[in-house]
Amino acid sequence: MNQSKNRKSKIENRKFNLQSPRFAANLQIEELIDAARAASQNAYAPYSHYPVGAAVLTRGGKIFTGCNIENAAYPSGVCAERVAIFKAVSEGARALSAIAVVTPNGASPCGACRQVFSEFAADDARIILALPRGKRRREFSMQEFLPARFGARHLK
Ligand SMILES: [Zn+2]
Repeated sequence: MNQSKNRKSKIENRKFNLQSPRFAANLQIEELIDAARAASQNAYAPYSHYPVGAAVLTRGGKIFTGCNIENAAYPSGVCAERVAIFKAVSEGARALSAIAVVTPNGASPCGACRQVFSEFAADDARIILALPRGKRRREFSMQEFLPARFGARHLK
């Protein structure tokens, strides 16, 4: 069996295994990407012209979204990822299981956003990078995204 045939059969298995928790999780990831895409429509990016949307999924299944919000005083702006994370945390969420980020070219979050996500995300949390349209995406675990991360355990 060649590799492409193997991949196709995996996709078919996923398609028909409706009871699989992984399948349900993947459906929620699609919803998360859609939410990030919608959020990017609200980006306030008059300086960079680089709209970003983000959506975080809590362990409890709730979705919070954010967009980048720039400012004429450049350092006062904030990234979409942190807006989404701070919205979730300000509503009481403390455990995040995934974040989807949509940028014009599929770029990955800055170091500050990785660190902030890491505060509320376990090693197996998912980071999904997507484009404004289409099925192409990249996916990482928190551990892959920010290895040897600094966290609360270092302050004990
Ligand atoms: Zn950032």
